[in-house]
Amino acid sequence: MSEDAGTLIVGAGVAGSALAMHLAELGDRDVLVVDPDLAGSRSSSELNAGGVRATWWQRVNIELCARTIENFRAHADELGFRPLGYLWLYGPDLWPGAREHVALQNALGQDVELLSPADVGARWPQIDVLDGIAGATFSPRDGLVSPNAVREHYRARARAAGARFVNRRLLVGVERAGAAVRAARLREMPSEHAALDALVGEVPDGREEVVRCGRIVNAAGPWAAPVAETLGYTVPCRAVRRQLSVVACRDVDLSRYGMIVDTTGCYFHHEGGELILAGYSPPDDPAGYRFDYDGRGFFEAEIWPRLAARISAMDRLEHVRGWAGLYELSQDNSALVGPVEDLENAWEIHSFSGRGIMQSDAAARALAELMRLGRFETADASALAGSRFRTGALLPEELHI
Ligand SMILES: Cc1cc2nc3c(=O)[nH]c(=O)nc-3n(C[C@H](O)[C@H](O)[C@H](O)COP(=O)(O)OP(=O)(O)OC[C@H]3O[C@@H](n4cnc5c(N)ncnc54)[C@H](O)[C@@H]3O)c2cc1C
Repeated sequence: MSEDAGTLIVGAGVAGSALAMHLAELGDRDVLVVDPDLAGSRSSSELNAGGVRATWWQRVNIELCARTIENFRAHADELGFRPLGYLWLYGPDLWPGAREHVALQNALGQDVELLSPADVGARWPQIDVLDGIAGATFSPRDGLVSPNAVREHYRARARAAGARFVNRRLLVGVERAGAAVRAARLREMPSEHAALDALVGEVPDGREEVVRCGRIVNAAGPWAAPVAETLGYTVPCRAVRRQLSVVACRDVDLSRYGMIVDTTGCYFHHEGGELILAGYSPPDDPAGYRFDYDGRGFFEAEIWPRLAARISAMDRLEHVRGWAGLYELSQDNSALVGPVEDLENAWEIHSFSGRGIMQSDAAARALAELMRLGRFETADASALAGSRFRTGALLPEELHI
């Protein structure tokens, strides 16, 4: 590869792919996206739970999720979008805050219902243990999507509008002229195996090429911090392992429901047939590039007790498989979308903090507008600029899960 690029996007997950799509569709005919592993075996876009909701606490997060979900609804068959809603059970600690933010969510068109524990028992009869539930919300516009289909949709449209995606390329350095990045050093990955090793810090030797670029975008998800360092700036972001288990459950049919989030933070949804996908994030999981799944031990210690304590028929579950991926957490649990303050021609779209699929389309569209037109047109995402960590205008989100 010896192509130069008007816009070089580093990372081809949902964020990089959606940005390429919107830039190209807004007329940027010279977009190049590079990634060591376009298949995304370690990318968060491949390893997530597929839930999409707009029940956040910050206006910008609600708006960007709502717009993205509307786009999923418009392409529901292609993207595997199932508008089955989100049922969220709250304990007494979080319930007052959750209840307070429903007004904002509904002012932004979300139709979120406030439920009592008795309502939950009546409408979700499978949930037969109501202990510890102070209240609940049900957001009917939310649902589940196929993240892989979403990413491929973005890539197909990006390619159709002229964007190029190049596999087996890892950004390892840049050439700068003052505060501008003039070129990127990309190392060719000799194999898929080598590419996956590179993503846990074992970067292989290999041929390097220098690609001149007019501007460069950090869309490296959980690798945003090392990519920022390569470009010459810092971000307050970290990668943290999140594990998901798939279990067989013959006695409880959840196929009519979307995501259910328990008071404990354990979340689960129907995964086809008699399978259920369930996740839980132990609060003490350290930051780092860890993809090891703790297997049956994790399921038995963290998932099973929480599920069986809420749905008594789930005392009979069979562990099938599971995996681990990375959450890309910023300091306030909101994404960084906008210009890089310390560099003249660098931009960023990353650290969605567990919100990357559900925010991808609208966030990328907003950034593409800013880059191409110099202003936001469809949604004002200015609050997500990384400069907020300097000014103090933070956007804290309670993640709960
Ligand atoms: C277990 C789990 C459950 C989740 N559940 C949900 C959910 O239900 N709903 C939701 O919306 N979100 C969820 N998320 C979060 C969501 O998956 C992410 O926010 C989203 O996928 C981030 O997309 P991205 O494109 O920013 O990052 P990624 O998909 O990780 O893509 C980053 C890309 O950058 C590439 N890259 C890294 N370093 C370099 C380099 N030096 N040079 C070139 N390329 C590089 C990587 O190879 C990778 O392909 C979940 C995440 C996990 C882990």
